[in-house]
Amino acid sequence: MPLLEVTGLRASFGDTPVLRGISLSAEPGAVTVLIGPSGSGKTTFLRSLNALETPQSGVVRIGDTTVDYGAHPARRQLAALRAHSGMVFQAHHLFPHRTALENVIEGPVHAQHRPRADAEREARDLLARVGLADCGDRRPAELSGGQQQRVGIARALALHPELLLFDEPTSALDPETVGEVLQVMRDLAAEGWTMVVVTHEIAFAREVADQVAFLDGGVILEQGPPDRILTRPREVRTRQFLRRVL
Ligand code: ADP
Repeated sequence: MPLLEVTGLRASFGDTPVLRGISLSAEPGAVTVLIGPSGSGKTTFLRSLNALETPQSGVVRIGDTTVDYGAHPARRQLAALRAHSGMVFQAHHLFPHRTALENVIEGPVHAQHRPRADAEREARDLLARVGLADCGDRRPAELSGGQQQRVGIARALALHPELLLFDEPTSALDPETVGEVLQVMRDLAAEGWTMVVVTHEIAFAREVADQVAFLDGGVILEQGPPDRILTRPREVRTRQFLRRVL
């Protein structure tokens, strides 16, 4: 059974439709990469998966939690959906006055009420896992952009999510630090994490994705295995987009 199932998601901002009926599912352990032009709805779609946006209609199921956006879901239902996923943003959103370790334990301690000593022990392990074993005491300003983004990944993992969501995680980085973040994501994929990734890194998609979906104008124009979508796209719009980004 898929871990993630999305059916008929529709969202608009004011009178402007942004998602026009998006359906997608992902098996446990699958990496789904969303590509598409700026403004096609990728971020809005991703944020709808954890109720950071609340679309007008459509159903999102992650694991055992289902939210029917059209049925005016209660706040606790939205919170239950949110608890299933960890989000990594384009800009890392770390607390600037807290150390890397303090940033990682913030969610577990304050939102999930886990014992601080346990959360700290786990946070040290997670920082080591993203290659930052010696950086726990540093504040974000003392870290490179790539290191900050890796702290952001450790922070998402600390919430014990079932699904990891990445919103253009490397697009704000200096070119020389993009690779280290992609490597952490590659490792997570190899470990079996279920991931939905919005990115323009087509080489990463080709190598790591199990499925690629091309969004255009608020719909998925085509989706399938990376080789099919990235090498032999059927739609003119997909071909035009790939010519621009490759
Ligand atoms: P993408 O991630 O593919 O660039 P987005 O989901 O960010 O696309 O945006 C899709 C469309 O929705 C764009 O036209 C954008 O201007 C609009 N939009 C996104 N967020 C908002 C918002 N909070 N208020 C109004 N319009 C928005």
